[in-house]
Amino acid sequence: MSNSTSFISSDKKKEILKTIDILSFFHESTLERLAQESKEISLKPETVIFNEGDEGSAMYIVLDGEILIYQGDKLLTNMLPGTFFGEMSLIESRPRTAGARALVPSVLLEISETQFQEYFATQPKALMAIMKTLSARSRKISTGLASSTASKNDPAQNVIPSLDEHYREVLVFQPKTFQFIKANSLACVDTGFTPDEIMQKTFIELAPTLDPQKLSRICDSLINKIRPMVSFETTFQRKDESTYPAECKLQLVEPKDSLSEILVWVQDITERKQMENTIRQMAYYDSLTGLPNRNLLNDRLAVALANATRNNEKVAILFLDLDHFKTINDSLGHEAGDQLLQQVSLRIKEILRKQDTIARMGGDEFIILIPGLTDTDHTAKLAEKILDAVTPVFKIGDNELYVGCSIGISIFPDDGMEIKTLLKNSDLAMYRAKEKGRNTFQLYTPAMNFKAMERLAVEKNLRKALDRNEFELYYQPKINLKSGQIAGMEALIRWDSPELGLVMPNQFIPIAEETRLIIQLGHWVLLTACRQTIQWQDAGLPPTPVSVNLSVVQFTHPNLVSEIGQVLKQTKIPPYQLELEITESVLMQDTTLAVSILKKLSALGIKISIDDFGTGFSSLNYLKNLPMDYLKIDQTFIKDFNLRTNSAITKAIVTLAQSMDMKTIAEGVETEEQRKFLNELNCDEAQGYLFSKPIPKDEMGELLKTGKKF
Ligand code: C2E
Ligand code: MG
Ligand code: MG
Repeated sequence: MSNSTSFISSDKKKEILKTIDILSFFHESTLERLAQESKEISLKPETVIFNEGDEGSAMYIVLDGEILIYQGDKLLTNMLPGTFFGEMSLIESRPRTAGARALVPSVLLEISETQFQEYFATQPKALMAIMKTLSARSRKISTGLASSTASKNDPAQNVIPSLDEHYREVLVFQPKTFQFIKANSLACVDTGFTPDEIMQKTFIELAPTLDPQKLSRICDSLINKIRPMVSFETTFQRKDESTYPAECKLQLVEPKDSLSEILVWVQDITERKQMENTIRQMAYYDSLTGLPNRNLLNDRLAVALANATRNNEKVAILFLDLDHFKTINDSLGHEAGDQLLQQVSLRIKEILRKQDTIARMGGDEFIILIPGLTDTDHTAKLAEKILDAVTPVFKIGDNELYVGCSIGISIFPDDGMEIKTLLKNSDLAMYRAKEKGRNTFQLYTPAMNFKAMERLAVEKNLRKALDRNEFELYYQPKINLKSGQIAGMEALIRWDSPELGLVMPNQFIPIAEETRLIIQLGHWVLLTACRQTIQWQDAGLPPTPVSVNLSVVQFTHPNLVSEIGQVLKQTKIPPYQLELEITESVLMQDTTLAVSILKKLSALGIKISIDDFGTGFSSLNYLKNLPMDYLKIDQTFIKDFNLRTNSAITKAIVTLAQSMDMKTIAEGVETEEQRKFLNELNCDEAQGYLFSKPIPKDEMGELLKTGKKF
């Protein structure tokens, strides 16, 4: 699935990647994915990878050979297999500060900016590791420099070297008074003082945040030769009182016949600090709204819960979800949706206190954390304030939008002791709020225990539902991508319950499976779908194959094959017009059994497709032995098809299916862009909201009658 030629065995590649510390936080399968997705580049000696000043859009991992990093004609360092370079431009999005070229024949793995975002920005630990490597690297370069300069310019000679490198400023001070006694000219340039002025100053005056006692201890340890060199970070103050972060390196100078003096090398680390901030920003903040993200929220939650326990206080968690956000996003586009999210977060932020946190969890979901509560009444009032803030009209471009939101609230420690439970309960309460009619809030109550209640209600009513005729089949057309014509339809069950309202299959199929009601239900679906198909055909509509979903419980039921034979006979549907959809996981449970059942079904002449394909991607070999007609590519790959992984998987599935004489059908196609992409891949059919949602039988009949092309 690699989208480039490989110059190095995948085993060796994996070995090398494993040794790289910044990748050590990734799961092995993630590393494998990264290795497969990334481009390999083979370089002849002297090939330039990038020049100083180039725009950087990738970082590189050395797999083989040796790479030189240089500034102008000065060599900075060399990179051997197992090291990486070029990441600075990705983090800071600024031109390259150095050039890179191959010394010997070399092989690199290129990590694109998109990949970097995808893999690293979501992994704070990996980002922190990059940061550490970076500062270690800059330290290494500067230490190398400092020591070589020190040997050339012996400090014992009282010569202050004029360094123009990383350590621009060099000063000498008196360890008792901290008074400066020497300084190079660059120290004057950087601080804005004249040499005379600097000599009037003490180290503490130049670095006012330094603790004199601590500095004293440091000097003692140098004078007593306990440590040869001490380095620390502090803040320097210029003559105009502006400040800059600096790294100081202190060494003892022992003039032959006078008192000890201390030499200090100072490096302005503004850039490094900025980089650290960028990284922190990427790891802990949402890039769209600038709000804390899930990572930072988790940290803050942990702190808030610990403090609350200690002080006998409470913490409120508000789970907020915008109402109708999807409709706005779908009808006005993502940009409008993004702007709306930004405006919403601004409005809410205004209401909160400094110690409260609002975090974006992704999509249109926000969490508000209110620590240190003594009175929980405050929470309800706050929720009302938030609702009031979000209700007034939003102006997005030329549109005036009204959005409400639904809020669910859970309280520590009343509704849970752990972060996970509290978040889950606030989520449940939020759903309750939505049910109550949106733009409202709901406190979690133990009695609510939504899931359990819903489950009980579903189970209780499910038993009566078949007898009471509460089920209905909807149909969703499948479109031939080349011709645009309807190539088939999938029967999807709906339950219209007088007690529960319209219930979707994902909510009741699992329960029907557990209670084995699915056997009867499945039979009803099969019979109804086949009857309907024949009825349409008898009415003169074009013969159209119908597909029916089979649950694992049905699939392994001993009567399955005879039952289907019976339905074929009873309804007189030609077997090739019936298709059974089985999920990949069904096949993987008991392969031998699955193969024998599938062979029998296929002998009946019916068609078989694998549903939601790609989600259990591990073993593909077994497919070769199965009588399969269709692979249905799972929606998740189509939804974000422009992610490189997903498009690669989709391509692979189509190619695989073609090589095995199977047809492919893509699920969840919602945009023209996706359709175009699938058409280019020669995917056979597609199904999704772009063409039609699942529709009641009468509408499907109309659609077949008009012979509409899509
Ligand atoms: P499935 O077989 O993968 O069906 C496709 C699901 O995707 C359907 O959800 C369909 O409404 C939805 N869908 C279709 N096009 C789009 C689109 O463009 N975007 C999005 N976001 N969704 C789309 P539905 O009807 O809720 O069914 C869910 C699952 O429930 C089905 O997944 C299937 O596994 C199961 N199911 C449905 N009917 C039956 C049935 O009669 N028997 C059994 N055993 N399972 C069923
Ligand atoms: Mg299906
Ligand atoms: Mg599916």
